[in-house]
Amino acid sequence: MLRQVAEGVLVHESEFCQSNAVVVQGRAGVLLIDPGVQGHEMACLANDLSDVGHTVVAGFSTHPHWDHLLWHARLGEAPRYGTARCAAVVRARLSDAGAKARVAGLIPQDIAERVPLDLLGLIAGLPVETAQIPWDGPNVRIVEHQAHAPGHAALLIEERGVLVAGDMLSDVLIPMLDLNGTADPIEDHLAALRLLEGVAGDVDVLVPGHGSIGGADQVHARIDQDRAYVHALRAGHAPSDPRVGPSAKPGWEWVSDVHNGQAQRLAGRAERAATFG
Ligand SMILES: [Zn+2]
Repeated sequence: MLRQVAEGVLVHESEFCQSNAVVVQGRAGVLLIDPGVQGHEMACLANDLSDVGHTVVAGFSTHPHWDHLLWHARLGEAPRYGTARCAAVVRARLSDAGAKARVAGLIPQDIAERVPLDLLGLIAGLPVETAQIPWDGPNVRIVEHQAHAPGHAALLIEERGVLVAGDMLSDVLIPMLDLNGTADPIEDHLAALRLLEGVAGDVDVLVPGHGSIGGADQVHARIDQDRAYVHALRAGHAPSDPRVGPSAKPGWEWVSDVHNGQAQRLAGRAERAATFG
């Protein structure tokens, strides 16, 4: 089911982690951002698009995590893009023979069989500092930042007032920091939030990679909520955050484990720094 969230911008929500695929109507076809997760859902999306005469002319993955890198044959053979850094990470992680088995091991077992990996990660990196997605449609500004995953990009569809946030600014998922290979994941995440805050004034509709779509009032509220979480994490405090603990939405109780995991890893980093620094 495609739901219109702004003129020419539609969202298809997956049963898996409320993942949002975003369709942007262009002149000759549509841009498809983070297409979806389960095969039958992407096939359904392909049907919905062809029913109204739309073909996919471009794809974009917001970051190099498996649930944002999928594709279905029925969606066609349009070029698929990501930032240069995103594509480089995908290339590095998927280049060896055992890569797909490794990815399959990351997928929750109850849906693993329904996630088609044959077209996983076939994206081309856009040149470094590309400002907009190259396609024939409304301008889609690439707001790249260092948070959650290397080469993570939010997309601002300026003429439509829509911010596609990737795995930032969710109402159900806490900020999940990129704890691998970055010197200061806390500061990186805060810098990314400042960057998003800088474009927030142009946003009427916020579409997170997972979770509920928000209106203009939600943009600053979610930035503030994410910042408060990251500050609590940095201070080593238990966050007072509705996404963690008993107030988590039904089905999202595991987010508390994500929080505990990253709190522990950050404490480990601090200890190592004190020992070796
Ligand atoms: Zn995700």
